Amino acid sequence: MLADLHTHSLASDGVLAPAELLARAENNGVNLLALTDHDTMSGVQALQASLASGELQTTVELVPGVEITTMVNGACVHVVGLWLDSAHLGLQRLLNGQRQVRVERAERIAFKLEREGMQGVLEGARRHAGDAVISRPHFARYLVERQYCTNEQQAFRRWLGKSKVGDVACIWPELEEVVATVQSAGGVAVLAHPTKYGLTRTKLDCLVGSFSEAKGDAIELVSGAQQSNVTNDLLKLCERYPVAFSTGSDFHSPAQTWCDLGQQPAMPEAAEPIWTLRQAAA
Ligand code: AMP
Ligand code: MN
Ligand code: MN
Ligand code: MN
Repeated sequence: MLADLHTHSLASDGVLAPAELLARAENNGVNLLALTDHDTMSGVQALQASLASGELQTTVELVPGVEITTMVNGACVHVVGLWLDSAHLGLQRLLNGQRQVRVERAERIAFKLEREGMQGVLEGARRHAGDAVISRPHFARYLVERQYCTNEQQAFRRWLGKSKVGDVACIWPELEEVVATVQSAGGVAVLAHPTKYGLTRTKLDCLVGSFSEAKGDAIELVSGAQQSNVTNDLLKLCERYPVAFSTGSDFHSPAQTWCDLGQQPAMPEAAEPIWTLRQAAA
């Protein structure tokens, strides 16, 4: 089984159309692919429609997913929902709210960057977003286009990343609400890329504990080109909690050369994969 359960398309901050993503996954030998755009399932719904009508054919099993921004102890944490019913009303309500927060946040980010002397930020970021859910990478792309920054990494380092001017505080829903909504929409809740929040070991342990207490189902044990010692430490830390494990490339773009679709390192044998649990339940 080659699974990639965390990917983005141009419905959010990725660059490939959903159908292009699916074709690339198939080409890479992926059997199980989750499209998990930030706070929207519009790409998933488009794929499901094309697959149902026969307009699109693939050997890949598509897992309907989403990546939801939530708040844990005042800090932003991402939860990936998998095997979701995108028509579920509670889920739709939650995702509509997320997109509303993003629209308001975009205005505040633009206001702050313009106060620093940059021009046309809101229009520029909106143009880069197009029909997608507006997110910080769209701002980064505009800052690069206007040569305020030399690349997107630098845009995050200087302006958009943690504690920078463009990192504005938002009220995202609490973890318990997100986990419960994902599960009521028939899905499983996965704590996304736990080692990428810059937490100390103690705080990471605390986060996994909070997630488990919120009845979260699985931990994303492998994310992108993660080092094996990081994976093994995380697996050890999770031993005390009743959680399964997930894996994903967090693919956004073919330019992201460090980890293509399905190319993240394999999960350790000792880790119970979320899809075997899912198959057993089904
Ligand atoms: P948002 O969901 O709008 O808060 O934007 C977060 C997204 O920005 C993440 O999902 C990544 O795709 C991207 N991102 C976060 N940090 C960085 C970084 N340091 N460099 C490049 N992209 C980043
Ligand atoms: Mn992203
Ligand atoms: Mn994320
Ligand atoms: Mn992601």
